Amino acid sequence: DTFPGDESGDLQPRQTPGMLYSKAIPTPVTAPKLVAWTDELAAELGIQKPETQEEIDILGGNHVTDTMYPYAACYAGHQFGNWAGQLGDGRAITLGEWEKPDGHTWELQLKGAGPTPYSRRADGRAVLRSSVREYLMSEAMHYLGVPTTRALSLVSTGEPVLRDMFYNGNAAHEPGAIVMRTAPSFLRFGNFELLAARKETENLTKLVDWTITRYYPHIQGDNKILTWYKEVVERTAELMVEWMRVGFVHGVMNTDNMSILGLTIDYGPYSFVDAYDLSFTPNTTDLPGRRYAFGNQPTIGYWNLGCLASALLPLVPKEQLVETLESYKPIYWQKYYAMLGRKLGLDQVRKDDIPLLNKVEETLASIQPDMTIFYQLLIELPLFVATADEVAAHFADSLYTSLTADQKQALYTMIVSYLERLNTNTITRQASQQLMREANPLFILRNYLLHQAIEQLEQTGDDTLFQKLQAAIKQPYADVYPEFYAKRPDWANEKAGCSMLSCSS
Ligand code: AMP
Ligand code: MG
Ligand code: MG
Repeated sequence: DTFPGDESGDLQPRQTPGMLYSKAIPTPVTAPKLVAWTDELAAELGIQKPETQEEIDILGGNHVTDTMYPYAACYAGHQFGNWAGQLGDGRAITLGEWEKPDGHTWELQLKGAGPTPYSRRADGRAVLRSSVREYLMSEAMHYLGVPTTRALSLVSTGEPVLRDMFYNGNAAHEPGAIVMRTAPSFLRFGNFELLAARKETENLTKLVDWTITRYYPHIQGDNKILTWYKEVVERTAELMVEWMRVGFVHGVMNTDNMSILGLTIDYGPYSFVDAYDLSFTPNTTDLPGRRYAFGNQPTIGYWNLGCLASALLPLVPKEQLVETLESYKPIYWQKYYAMLGRKLGLDQVRKDDIPLLNKVEETLASIQPDMTIFYQLLIELPLFVATADEVAAHFADSLYTSLTADQKQALYTMIVSYLERLNTNTITRQASQQLMREANPLFILRNYLLHQAIEQLEQTGDDTLFQKLQAAIKQPYADVYPEFYAKRPDWANEKAGCSMLSCSS
């Protein structure tokens, strides 16, 4: 468009002051092969499944058509709470924009297609392991109903990529791969932070205006920028609530990984929680601080919105930004309790329900059952329970450790209050259970399942489990794959390297 960009095509790592992007042609790979294709998304986009090698070459970065303009975006960010300066798309290259049949345009982006000026000391590549993880999980989140970027294709490159193995720290070659991911926009908080930090106020104004016109066209009238910021606050709060609903832990909530559209973006060392542990972080780089732990995510969302507010200081009076930022907390809690009410099958959340909701949360955090299974068992809870033992037995299949006497009593007390509250529902038990079924997934894409599917692919090329998971993610609220409805097995506990991953692989 009209943004200043570096058109040189030079891929040497460097700072690019004044530029919002750099032209970056993908570096060809030896033998691009289509491993997976997302039919439903392709239909939505109006893109046909590639048949010829020339078409697959596009997905591997080997072929750039005349209508494409491949570029890497320049952005900055706060990583683990610290200003990191210029970052940018180090291994993502946007090929261009695609107009969908519905008239909306989406960015088509290759991840792992080779170096860009923003690759710093890294190689611009992605391994099959991390590519499978991004490919399957972004689609899984879509079907869970969580705002997210999507993934259209997974291509193996035929080239090895050198990586530190996350479980033993040794360097090893792993097969390389490229995902084509897509979203209306991949703009992050960090794109705005970069321009503010560089005091490029004109570019900042341009980018903000463009973002509003293009992605928030309903915002009109005075105070547009503040209204827009308020909507980013709301969308971010909503996203955090959705992550908490399904037990998703992103793992690297740096401001360069925060979508300006409120989407889940950048699938790295993420994980679902198995046990309901608020301090769980799947990211080895996040230890021992646990900044990005499960229960910390809403607070980090707020912190990141604070960084975005700072970036907008040249454009909006400070008091207005601060006031809007502070609205995050009540907005979050309102959405959070409403969500918890649905998970629990309440007809509505009243003010005097809040102590119960807090009690549920507290009890789960204390006994740490499998989150997904606990809520499924809750749907089938008998409406009358006589003893603490009876309650403990009902939830036995969700427990990772046996309950202490105190925990058992706490669970019983909580359940008794919950049943009393259910009694006052103005909707039928069936309607209440229906609410619960819609809010509580039966199937989540657990890390150990991904781990197994990836091992099979890597070792023998067997894609049986991969395909099964690709099918299972499409119906997370239905009971179609009972074999996946199980607690994390013992062999896959945190120490086995199935729940922990490092930042960039
Ligand atoms: P992440 O932690 O995945 O958000 O990445 C942080 C920054 O490192 C971003 O600017 C990425 O583009 C960059 N990066 C991560 N992995 C690679 C890689 N293999 N090659 C080049 N840049 C990378
Ligand atoms: Mg990133
Ligand atoms: Mg990443």
